[in-house]
Amino acid sequence: MKYLILTFFSGVSLLVVAQVKPIYYSTEDDNTQLLNDIQYLASDDLLGRLPGTEGATLAIEYIENSFQNLGLKPLFSNNSFLQSFNIPRPSEFPKNQNYIVIGNDTLKPENGLIRSPYSISKEFSGWSLSLHPKTQGSLVQNFTQKSKTTLKGKLVIIEIFDKRHKKKNTRLYSMLQDEILEAQNRGAEEVILIAKHNKKEVSFSKNMFSKLKNSNINISICFNRKWSRRLLRNKKSILSMTKVSKRQAEGQNIGGVLDFGAKTTVLIGAHYDHLGTGQFHGNTSKEIEIYNGADDNASGVGVMLEVVRQVKTETRLQDKNIVFVAFSGEEDGLIGSNFFVKNCPFDPKTISFMLNIDMVGRLNNSDSLIIYGTSSSSEWDELINGLSNVEINIKNVADTFPRSDHASFIKAGIPSVMFHTGLHKDYHKPSDDFDKIDPLGLVKITGVILEILESSSKFKRFIN
Ligand SMILES: [Zn+2]
Repeated sequence: MKYLILTFFSGVSLLVVAQVKPIYYSTEDDNTQLLNDIQYLASDDLLGRLPGTEGATLAIEYIENSFQNLGLKPLFSNNSFLQSFNIPRPSEFPKNQNYIVIGNDTLKPENGLIRSPYSISKEFSGWSLSLHPKTQGSLVQNFTQKSKTTLKGKLVIIEIFDKRHKKKNTRLYSMLQDEILEAQNRGAEEVILIAKHNKKEVSFSKNMFSKLKNSNINISICFNRKWSRRLLRNKKSILSMTKVSKRQAEGQNIGGVLDFGAKTTVLIGAHYDHLGTGQFHGNTSKEIEIYNGADDNASGVGVMLEVVRQVKTETRLQDKNIVFVAFSGEEDGLIGSNFFVKNCPFDPKTISFMLNIDMVGRLNNSDSLIIYGTSSSSEWDELINGLSNVEINIKNVADTFPRSDHASFIKAGIPSVMFHTGLHKDYHKPSDDFDKIDPLGLVKITGVILEILESSSKFKRFIN
């Protein structure tokens, strides 16, 4: 009899085990749609998904339709899935309206004058002050020592690659950047950098423009030898005319929610924008090449949509509301996610945590999934280390990795992590293509995210 009872009970428990499937997504599930989504977003038809272009519009339509078909509710006002914001683009310079005049001579762009694309329209007329090449030591130090030196109302001329800069070549960028900002703080009206020697200096200074795009001082480069000498020695009054036509692109975040009427809300995000044909991101080649961004970040959007599909069919994952946002403007400096946090349609403090999926298509290259930002909550390490159905290596990294959208949420005090399979030689190149995506890796990473969603319910810090 005893024997019989035992058999009876073990039979039952076996039955129970067989019925309860772990929250784990495997290749036995159908991943065709996941791969189709990525293939479409990374196709040439979408022209690299640059915000404000036809290709981005196609991506928006696709993601918006997917959200709608999967039953998400629109997140934004007027029952809309879309939230618009502006992305600044380098300005254009109308012909013959940018020049420098000393005496009877005029320096024009075609003869060696480059205005920063982030300049504002302005007419400067007054005195210049050249602090080089005779000044020794850092210009910033020099300012401090000679506290009476006033730059108010002056046009400041700084020679790059002079003796002083050469000495500390490795710090050149930050040194020159500090000097320009110091000049601005001391009331200078404008800065002209003198590139006396070679082309390298010009490309170097162009980089300086984007580093200082948020400062509000006009910066130019002069690479005309005669004018360089003249500007450095100038004792006369100078006229500098800057005329720009400002341009910007419209970015759109796409947001929807699976609202289960739960007390807790989490947010899952992935950016869908990419570099277009690289025109604003350093591609100077004349041939048009499409930056398809299959890994960066069609892969993340694909996984996000797959998470939606899985959550829809798995009631155990429905104890929290999940907001899904496909961000734009990431490649231009996290503009979309910053805008979202500041213009959130609900109180962002009610978000328990945010999961950012950015570049997850190359697990076969790195052999481990990196999770950045685990220091954003005391619970992440225990949660991640306790995942039981994971077959891949996971590297928890405490550092934020500030160049992706979760950083905007961490800044707002919301615990956030980023899923990532590492940088590679195709990163931000036209060769970041769909055929290099690791399908099995995507499936495994989706499984990790689903299990994190399930396990997080057990952690107090994540419950509002
Ligand atoms: Zn990128």
